[in-house]
Amino acid sequence: MNYVSTRGDNKKRTFSQAVLEGLADDGGLLVPESLPDFSQEWPQWKDLPYDELAFRILEPLAGDLPEGALRQCCSSAYGESYGGPVAPLRPVGPYQLLELFHGPTLAFKDVALQLLGRLFGVILEQNGQELNIVAATSGDTGSAAIHGLKDVPRVRLFVTHPEGRIADLQRQQMTTVVNDSVFNIAVKGTFDDCQHMVKDLSSDLEFKRKNSIGAVNSINFARIAAQVVYYFAAYLQTPRALEKVPAVVAVPTGNFGNILAAEYARRMGLPLACTVLASNENDILPTFFNTGLYKRGTARATHSPAMDIQVASNFERYLYLLASENPAKVKELMTSFATTGELQLEANPGSQWSALACSNKETLATVKEVWENHQQLLDPHTATAWWAMDQCLNDFEPDLPKIVVGTAHPAKFPEVLKQVVSSDVPELKHPTLEALKSLPERLFAIPARTDSLKEFVTSGIELGAGGVFLRSEEKAAPHG
Ligand SMILES: *Cc1c(COP(=O)(O)O)cnc(C)c1O
Repeated sequence: MNYVSTRGDNKKRTFSQAVLEGLADDGGLLVPESLPDFSQEWPQWKDLPYDELAFRILEPLAGDLPEGALRQCCSSAYGESYGGPVAPLRPVGPYQLLELFHGPTLAFKDVALQLLGRLFGVILEQNGQELNIVAATSGDTGSAAIHGLKDVPRVRLFVTHPEGRIADLQRQQMTTVVNDSVFNIAVKGTFDDCQHMVKDLSSDLEFKRKNSIGAVNSINFARIAAQVVYYFAAYLQTPRALEKVPAVVAVPTGNFGNILAAEYARRMGLPLACTVLASNENDILPTFFNTGLYKRGTARATHSPAMDIQVASNFERYLYLLASENPAKVKELMTSFATTGELQLEANPGSQWSALACSNKETLATVKEVWENHQQLLDPHTATAWWAMDQCLNDFEPDLPKIVVGTAHPAKFPEVLKQVVSSDVPELKHPTLEALKSLPERLFAIPARTDSLKEFVTSGIELGAGGVFLRSEEKAAPHG
């Protein structure tokens, strides 16, 4: 399979090249030239183990990997080290809850990042290259990336977070990883400062090339491809899957990576009647699906922080599908968006879509109601999708399977949930998170300046794989 830019730079890449490249030089996102059609095959996949299912779906997309490598990556990513089942589906009240939060960091991002780490390992080994990843996180992505990449040879990871401004649990999930190749950097500033520093560093092409800088953000197509798998896995677990009864899925959405994978699954032959997009009060995507207008706003802090976005980084891939894969049209729309902060689509933004914005109040009310009625504690992100499914229930025939995608374990967000359930509820704790509290942490502090970050990254690279970077600003490890 070849990969092309959504803005049409006329270059074709292999899967391996697309995985390393991340963003195309013309600013577009990389997408497969065509999609495989599994509509004849998927009914035979019902009883496959998850890693084998992943292999069947990814094989046509990742054809240039060395013989046996993909199968090896899938079985290692989704084997014992994963920590729990990858995508179990459980009936809860009127819905089926897809629990994507049994991985090492208890959030759905593990599904993709555990695989991405292994893919990087294979590709870098084959090319004899190194990769230095520089990222900014306000929580979830950083820890999933660290846990997915910490043991991958030839990869170093520099993850910035705003000092003192992320939850203790989320910091501990990152800073208790003390591998030599992982550098947690506390920036004396805000999350915006972190993002700007990483962006500045990445737009210095000379620095980027010299230091083999790469990205793991959700624009990497391998992450989307890995997420397609769990939609097939989920559907195959619904009670009447082999009758091909179309399902409805509701997805808590931020950067549009998770729900985009559902759309790809549909286009690969999975019977999905409707994708229900749930946002929080940051409603740029619901506005788009309801009016065709995509307009940049200012991000608000909500109870579902992993969905607090201004613009959705994967949206351009969906525009490309809507524009019948015409890159000139995508380029025109995205240029308009870059200059005016908005774009207006004439065509229907999606006939098999519903999109709703869930307020903080509705999020909490949903957590409370689902807890009281079904003894199921939802995390605040998952609650937005449950709420959105409730809103459009009357649009669907009662016997269609309704899948609510669960993106995080509730124990990751105890402060929010304690506003509506008693603090004794056992689901507010998880042994993986409890264990972190007694582990030593390692992190490095730098000022909120791009040259400080560049200097830090360069010194970290010079140390090579074996060294640990100590400097005067290193913070004494807080012991819990
Ligand atoms: C990242 C994240 C989301 C949003 O997923 P996107 O792919 O960015 O739309 C939702 N919930 C949780 C818990 C997340 O970590």
